[in-house]
Order: sequence, then C-alpha cells, then structure tokens
Amino acid sequence: MGIVICRQDTKIELWKKALKAAAPDIEVYSCLEDHPKEKIKMALVWKHSPGSLKAYPNLRCIASSGAGVDFIFSDVEAPVHLPITRVVDPMLASDMSEHVTAVIFAYLKNLNQYKLDQQQQIWNPIGYARIKDFTVGILGLGTLGALLAKNLVHFGFQVQGWSQSRKSLPSVTAYTGETALHAFLSTTNVLVCLLPLTPNTEGILNKELFDQLPKGSFVINVARGGHLVDEALLQALQSDHLSGAALDVFHEEPLAKEHPFWSHPKVHISPHCASVSDASSVAPQIIENYRNLLNRKALQNLVSMDRGY
Ligand code: NDP
Repeated sequence: MGIVICRQDTKIELWKKALKAAAPDIEVYSCLEDHPKEKIKMALVWKHSPGSLKAYPNLRCIASSGAGVDFIFSDVEAPVHLPITRVVDPMLASDMSEHVTAVIFAYLKNLNQYKLDQQQQIWNPIGYARIKDFTVGILGLGTLGALLAKNLVHFGFQVQGWSQSRKSLPSVTAYTGETALHAFLSTTNVLVCLLPLTPNTEGILNKELFDQLPKGSFVINVARGGHLVDEALLQALQSDHLSGAALDVFHEEPLAKEHPFWSHPKVHISPHCASVSDASSVAPQIIENYRNLLNRKALQNLVSMDRGY
C-alpha cells in the first residue's frame, strides 16, 4: 500500500522527501518511476497529467497538494467520485496574506508607478493614499480570505468580504450571496479575489462586476486565471474606470509572451507565487489523512462535491 505523487513540475522529489520525513514507514512513489499501481491508495496531486489517475485500480482518495482543486475537476477522466481533499495550512494562509498586503501597500504608495518612472529617470512625486482612504473588499472569506481580512483590520483598513454562507469576523463587514454582491462592490476600492474556481465563480471578474466598483478601484486576482475575463479588465483600464490591477494567476500559465498584460503599465504581474504549499508544513496532514483512510476514519479538509470546493 502506498501514496503516489503525481505532478508535472520538478517538485516530486521534494514532496517525496517531506512525506518520508513525516512517515518513514509509508511507501511513497513518484509517478515518474516504476511503481506498483495496484498498491496505490492515495494520489497526492498538483496539476497532474490529465487521465493519469485512471492507472490506479485501488485508488481511494485524491489529495490536492494545494488549496485549490479546480485542476482535478477539469480532468474529465479523474475518478472524482472518490473523496478529494485539499490543503488547509496556516503557512499557506499567512503567505497569501503577506503577498496581498504587500500589493496593497505598493498600490497605496505608488511604488509601481515609481518603478516605471525610474526606468525613464523621471522625478515626479505624486500624492499618496493612506490606509483610512480605502475599503478593501475580499471575494471569498474562506481560509485565506478570512486571515487576510483579519490582518488588514489589524493594519487599520476598512475591510469587507463576500461569501456564500454568512460569516461573522471581528470588524469585517460581511456580505452573503448573489443579492448582496452589488452592495459589496459599490463600497469597495481595492477588490481582492480569493474565491475557488467553480462553475459559479468562473468569469466573475467581468465587465458587469467592474462596472459596479467605484471609479478608480484597483483589482487584485490571486485566486485563479479563470475568474477573470481578460478583455473586460483591459477595457476597464483603458477607460480609466479601474486604476490598475495586480494579477498572480492567468488562464494560461506561464502567461503567453504576446499577452497584452505583460506590457500594460497598469497591470502588475507575479508568476503564480502569491502563496505556495510548503511540503514540510503540509506533509503531516497528508500522512494523517492517509492513515485515516487506511483505518476508515473521517478525512480532514474534504472537498464538498456539491459545492465543488
Ligand atoms: P476556501 O474554500 O476556504 O474559501 C473559499 C471562499 O469562497 C469561501 O468563503 C466561500 O464561501 C467563498 N465562495 C465560494 N463560492 C462562492 C460563491 N459562488 N459565491 C460567494 N462566495 C463563494 O478556499 P481558500 O481560502 O483556502 O482558497 C481560495 C482560493 O485561493 C483557492 O481555491 C485557490 O484558487 C486560490 N489560491 C491561490 C494561490 C496562489 O498562489 N495564487 C495559493 C492558494 C490558493 P463559504 O465560506 O460560504 O463556503
């Protein structure tokens, strides 16, 4: 019996080492090596090769090694009738909070503009904003959104969030469901997307949504590229309805060389690095779930099949 690690990047050995360190007694295989497929009970996956999970006749659980699971559902051959788990990790949440906070402060203090000015040796001090001037609105008040909200409140920002079910977080104005979306958007100046990518949220960052934000708002997408309608963002920037955007995730990754985002002065790009699962931090929860699976105990961090996240 054992775990197979299925991913297409160069991190398989790193994850294998972390799992072996957490549980030397458990067999852990790389999908790239010869391994006994019938022995595999759990697949630890991250953007695995589509269709590859069919090879495991006795698979009992698919574990995402990140917070998102959209790539599992988009593999039409994945056995999604099996339990699917995801990562809920304090380090993943604090890394995301630090990234988004850095982006917000860079925006407030015009640091992106000064970087552009520097390239042309332009000395042009411009007025800066203060924390009190902005309301940050977070789409998604789950594990990542809730910690970000808490930390931004600590800095003194006005913070509001939008989620599917009702939330109660200290000093955070909470909006729930479709009917509250307009009220949420119309009072947001910096919009952060931290939603899971599901059929309900795909393309949510579109013209209709941007139109409901106050003029001059700034958009941060750190969730998934599929949330954003690229053309709608470009148009909202072109018309100056939005003042800028910071994007960490894209429809196609790496972002295609010819994509207009690369050279857009109001678009700030990071290469899907806002928050990266740390193998050592995450390995213990994978091992605990693996043992639970074998002992027929309840799994942690189960994805709801109905909600798709
Ligand atoms: P959670 O599942 O904990 O939270 C998701 C939140 O979105 C919940 O508050 C949920 O509402 C809300 N939500 C989902 N669907 C809807 C909807 N249709 N309408 C309103 N609210 C909705 O996820 P995490 O916080 O752990 O992660 C969020 C996403 O961040 C991940 O799915 C992933 O895509 C992205 N991510 C990006 C990373 C990066 O490096 N760029 C790194 C890690 C994650 P409710 O609470 O009511 O269920």
